[in-house]
Amino acid sequence: MTRFDEFYNKGRFVPSFEIFPPKTQEGIETLIGELGQLKAYDPAYISVTYGAMGSTQSLTRDLVLRISKELKMNTAFHFTCVGATRDSIKEYVEELKKEGVTLIVALRGDPPLGHSKFKASKDGFAYANELVTYLKSLGGFSLAVAGYPEGHVEAVSLEMDLENLKRKVDAGADVVITQLFFNNNDFYDFLDRATKIGIKTPIIPGVMPILNVNQVEKIASMCGAKLPQMLHQQLTQNKTDMVSMREIGIEYATEQCEDLKKNGALGIHFYTLNKAYSVSKILDALQ
Ligand code: FAD
Repeated sequence: MTRFDEFYNKGRFVPSFEIFPPKTQEGIETLIGELGQLKAYDPAYISVTYGAMGSTQSLTRDLVLRISKELKMNTAFHFTCVGATRDSIKEYVEELKKEGVTLIVALRGDPPLGHSKFKASKDGFAYANELVTYLKSLGGFSLAVAGYPEGHVEAVSLEMDLENLKRKVDAGADVVITQLFFNNNDFYDFLDRATKIGIKTPIIPGVMPILNVNQVEKIASMCGAKLPQMLHQQLTQNKTDMVSMREIGIEYATEQCEDLKKNGALGIHFYTLNKAYSVSKILDALQ
């Protein structure tokens, strides 16, 4: 069985790439081409997100299987508790296990639009730690969970949020992948605090190369990541020039990744936004 933690104990720095399932066949074909380019960087795995409200269940599954069979790359599938019962979870994950996919990014998911609180479905789970416990009980999976260097948007405090992360690790997660962040000190502080409360699993920083200002404003406000003022200003000044904005994103993320690597990061989880260009430039610069 493929395990997340095995990628991070080989003494080398490994990237992983997160993608989301496109909604059209044309989009899927384009993405397969982009991943073909990224294969050259020998990623640990490609992780495929799961849509809000479980909306991309079958798209996620089909894409995961296609990448693993056609491109012969390790794949991980994200799974959320949204709208899921114990039985429906079991059916979905066991089908992928039969196909040889054993890496799951186990998440609670966001509350539906317009709701501030997450509501567990009947016979489902309220928090990701419960999902982790359940998936572990099924056996044969390796699990990653989400960590939040700046705190989860609903968190009562950073301390409580970290205690909740520890619950997920204690329940059996093999690795923590962080939410994207733009200030490395937030990550280093998070690592220190996690170590102090006894979290020993690898914690992999999540980095998103910015493509354009409108998109990053939206993503940052949804996930609670602070966008540095200087960076925001630089992007805004180039608002009408997509190429310049992408270059600013590459430059910023390259510096971020160089610093993370220098400070001992075991790998970087790239939020690729389904594009190979920026990530390729960053990884070329790191080598
Ligand atoms: P949890 O760990 O359950 O935490 C949710 C909140 O509840 C936190 O504030 C936490 O402090 C608190 N909490 C946790 N456990 C307890 C407890 N036992 N008692 C009381 N409070 C508790 N979303 C998607 O829809 N699809 C995706 O594919 C997806 N992929 C992601 C990948 C990564 C790497 C990350 C970082 C996030 C991803 N998300 C995705 C977003 C994620 O679903 C949201 O951030 C969601 O709001 C929280 O999910 P979680 O698994 O962190 O929840």
